[in-house]
This record gives sequence, C-alpha cells and structure tokens, in this order.
Amino acid sequence: MKIPCIKIPITEIPLEKNARLFLKREDLIHPQISGNKYWKLFYNINQYLAKNPENPFLITFGGAFSNHIAAVAALGRESNIPTLGIIRGDELQQKWAENPTLKTAHQNGMEFRFVTREAYRNKPLLSQIFEKEFPGALIIPEGGTNDNAVNGIQYMLSEQTKSFDYLCTAVGTGGTVAGLSRFAEENQQVLGFKVVDDSSVEDTVFKLSKRNNFKLFEAHDGGYGKISDKNIRFINDFKGKYQIQLDPVYTGKMMRHLFNMIASDYFPPGSKILAFHTGGLQGIFGANELLKKQKRELIKIG
Ligand SMILES: *Cc1c(COP(=O)(O)O)cnc(C)c1O
Repeated sequence: MKIPCIKIPITEIPLEKNARLFLKREDLIHPQISGNKYWKLFYNINQYLAKNPENPFLITFGGAFSNHIAAVAALGRESNIPTLGIIRGDELQQKWAENPTLKTAHQNGMEFRFVTREAYRNKPLLSQIFEKEFPGALIIPEGGTNDNAVNGIQYMLSEQTKSFDYLCTAVGTGGTVAGLSRFAEENQQVLGFKVVDDSSVEDTVFKLSKRNNFKLFEAHDGGYGKISDKNIRFINDFKGKYQIQLDPVYTGKMMRHLFNMIASDYFPPGSKILAFHTGGLQGIFGANELLKKQKRELIKIG
C-alpha cells in the first residue's frame, strides 16, 4: 500500500457562532475505503507483505454493512491480494447478493464464509480454524484496531492540522481516536463521538494511546447502526446546506452531536475545531434499502 498522493482538503463549515468548525475530508481518499480504514490497514498490510511477498492472503471479519469489509475487499483488489470475509449471519448465505456492501466486496474479488451469530462471537476459535485452513494468511481483527492501526492514524494529521484546538472523530472500536490522541500536539484536545453503546471503549482507547488528552461522548442514538429520523434529517439538511455527504452510522452522528455542543457553547469563543470526515459512504446504499422497507425517509445521495 502506498501513501495516496492526493492532498486531503480541509473545508470550513460556516457557523453563526464564535467558534470555527472545519472538516478534513478523509472520505475523499477512496470511494470504498473509509479514510481511517485505509490508514488503519496501512502498516498492518505493508509489514505483512514485507514478510510474505509470495502468495499473500487477507482474512477479516465483519457484519453485512461493514465499512471494514468493504475497505479490505477494495484494497485486496487494488493490491492484487485475494481476500476472504468471515461474515456474521448464516442467513446471508442465500441472499448476500441483495446486500450492496457484500455485492461490491464480491465484485472486488472477496470470497465469503457465513457463520452463525453464535459462532461469530468466538473470534479466537474462528481465527484458529482459518489459520489452520489458510496457513500464512494475515488475519485482521474486526474493525482493524491494533497497535499498527493506531500508528497509521498519524497520516490523518499534518502541518495543517497543528493550528486546531480540537480534533474530533466518530468512534467505533476506538483505534482512530486513540491514534489522534497518540499523535496530537500538546495543546490539542481530542474529542471522540461514540457510535457504539459500549462502556469498555474508554479503557481500550487509553491502553492504546496512553495519554489523557481525549474525551469521549455518547453519540449512538440507541445503538450501533441504529438510524433515527433525526439523524436522517440532519444528514439531508447538512447535504443541502454544505454539499457534503455524511453517512448514517458514523459521521452523521458525530456532526449532529458536535453541532449540538457548538450550539450550547461547549467550546470557548475563538476555538478552532477540526472534525475528520472518516467516510463510510458505501454504507448509505444498504441503509437506504432498510429505510425503504420500513417506508421511511431516505438518505439523499448524488
Ligand atoms: C470504522 C469507522 C470509524 C471508527 O473507527 P474506529 O477506529 O473503529 O473507532 C469512524 N468512521 C467511519 C466512517 C468508519 O468506517
């Protein structure tokens, strides 16, 4: 994997407030690879390829709408590495082609194994089984978070990001926010917006970053992947106003909570806030299919 040559723009989101908000468009790195997922895979895959230049093989885990599955499949395609996705839910065996994430991953060459939700919970056992079946494969954890992943996040920071007081990101497994915390400047505060209802994330982040410069906020709207009407309306309004697409699982939830904090004057006057658009846009297609079935308002695209 190479460092992409594109320069990631930082755009101001104009506010009628005495704090300034900017968005760093990591979503522009690649249409199917969420910005942060690219950097989380960067050292993991490069180290693996350096040791195993012959017959590399990537195995990873995920749910049916997973940005991580989409990212690994797309990277496999670009780097000419075969990939296998261990997918949660054996009921998908017959109907995976109806799922936009899995369909695109398959077009990118990913093969699947579908496992029951129960079997899926026991990752150590699953890893053992697949290690035996595919000796020499790289098994990437769900969500891709490990020490190498946290190190890769340093590429989301640059000379330009040093002038900001706050660095904000959506939080799933915590690898991305841990990376921002690890590599932030002394005077910068890192704010993470949790889209999972999981109280163990704080500990995970601290273990990975070993710094006290971060704060986490609940932004899950009732659970991981739960899409509220408020969330949909916010994403559609945001698109109308700023012409920037947010996703319903991560960045939409982060921005809505961030807007609420700005409105209630959480930030001191004059603060410069940088939020990372970590991508996840491939997930909109799957979300819209569910919303259509539920006869609800859809997320506007295009
Ligand atoms: C995975 C993901 C995150 C969260 O990253 P973690 O390192 O798991 O906390 C944020 N935004 C998007 C779009 C993602 O796909």
